[in-house]
Amino acid sequence: MKHPRNRVVFKTYTPNQISLLPPSLEELIDINHPVRVVNSVIDKLELSQLEQSYKGGGTSSFHPRMLLKVLVYGYLSNIYSSRQLEAATKESIYMMWLSGMSRPDHNTINRFRGQRLKDNLKEIFRQVVLLLVESGHVSLKEIYTDGTKLESAANRYTFVWGRAIETNKKKMYKQLEELWTYTQKIASEESKSIELPSFEVIDSEKIAKTVDQIHQVLKQTQVEETQKAEKKKVQAKATYAQRNWSSKWIDYTKSEEILGQRSSYSKTDPDATFMRLKDDHMQNGQLKPAYNWQVSTANQYVTHYSIHQTTTDTTLLKEHLNSFQEQYQQMPESITADAGYGSEENYEFLEEKKIEAFVKFNLFHHEQTDKFKAQINKIDNLFYNQKQNCFYCPMGQKMTQIGTFTKKTDNQFQQTITKYQAQNCEGCPLRGACHKQAGNRIIEVNMNLRLHKQKIREKLNSEEGIKHRKQRPQDVEATFGQIKSNHNFKRLRLKGLVKVEIEVGLACLAHNIRKKAYKDVKNKENNPKSDRKPTKSSNNSTILKISKNYLEFFQKVA
Ligand code: SF4
Repeated sequence: MKHPRNRVVFKTYTPNQISLLPPSLEELIDINHPVRVVNSVIDKLELSQLEQSYKGGGTSSFHPRMLLKVLVYGYLSNIYSSRQLEAATKESIYMMWLSGMSRPDHNTINRFRGQRLKDNLKEIFRQVVLLLVESGHVSLKEIYTDGTKLESAANRYTFVWGRAIETNKKKMYKQLEELWTYTQKIASEESKSIELPSFEVIDSEKIAKTVDQIHQVLKQTQVEETQKAEKKKVQAKATYAQRNWSSKWIDYTKSEEILGQRSSYSKTDPDATFMRLKDDHMQNGQLKPAYNWQVSTANQYVTHYSIHQTTTDTTLLKEHLNSFQEQYQQMPESITADAGYGSEENYEFLEEKKIEAFVKFNLFHHEQTDKFKAQINKIDNLFYNQKQNCFYCPMGQKMTQIGTFTKKTDNQFQQTITKYQAQNCEGCPLRGACHKQAGNRIIEVNMNLRLHKQKIREKLNSEEGIKHRKQRPQDVEATFGQIKSNHNFKRLRLKGLVKVEIEVGLACLAHNIRKKAYKDVKNKENNPKSDRKPTKSSNNSTILKISKNYLEFFQKVA
């Protein structure tokens, strides 16, 4: 027999116990829970523009403030699907508290997210960032910018390649030319009136007309017995062309319109471009439909975001910063970014806008190594004499200017390249290591970019530059890690540029509120006097107190 001290005692379990007064949801939620931060932040927002987007009439609508809270809290707690959000409004006490026990269905949530927030989310995000600025959580003066790729909701094997369309069009035109040549060969003199339009001006109508004429001539023209087999073959080709080529040409033209300047798109999400993502589950470098997400952060809060269809970050900085200015009516005072943004065009733009640039260029780290410095074939290692506008080669020979030329970048930015040539490389003992050109060494230098690099190099190696360089990976890259990896926001759920921007905006908004909630708790921990202590026991004691009062009340009445 067990000693009384070792007796098993279970806590009371009475699930069917009826409460005299049901506990309020408010009491069940911890005072420091992020749901409270979502509630208080969104309550402070001015949503009249969003409210005005409702037409009125018909049945009553769910309040946009409530739907916004549900969506933001959903994104904050890794619930991105509208069906799961619908379920959460019925199952989670946090969602029930936020929604005031309203139960919007997934269609309502989806319509609100995809349509109502379309023209309003940027403004909502702006207001939240300004609230954070006001409370001292964040500053708009110093930003850390970087980009990441987000996989589209589209199927991975729905690609349309611009180069394939170009090749197919050329192939089709070549076959048309062959048909035309054969027809000209066998046609009688009077039937030789078919005109072959040139490739540059050809369209589906012209293809249809030419193929019809060829078909007609082939039908009417009689050939000798020996040529009949060949004619039959050509005729079959012409029949196929008559049926398919015109419509195919229309498809190609439509695809080219969708492509614009891009090299690919997805059939199920035409706004998505095929990009190389770091998350390569097949380990084969397969391109996937994706969007380029540019983010500026400060103190690990997202201060600005933009969505693009281009793969490279270099060409996007201008657009991203211009939208920053549009959003806040001001430019940041300084920007820190990695070497992906170091281009002449970006340096010029930042200088023009008076933004202090801590933006690396591609060889910034490499050029400081002894290995790089020892390479005499590198232009960056040659000494330049500004007064005489000449370089000195490793043998000390003057390299004088022999000409200039211009070229344009993808963004149509014009660069001027200057050419310098050594006097005489014949018999030079360093020739093998210096260059592999046939005559005297010629170098091509972008002098403006060289000047920018000099300034940036000094800035990056200054005390402030080192501070910003250290902060960059902890700031913007940590933010990406937090949203994408820790909160599993790796693949989009909505399709199309506009909806993707909304989804990404919600993720940024949720990240900022999550961060604020975390920092507020930390501040309270460091400053415990300001903390109210809401605990289970305090909640229970409140319920018990109220219940006791009511019991006393009922006893008196009885
Ligand atoms: S090869 Fe020509 S450019 Fe190079 S070090 Fe010799 S002289 Fe100078």
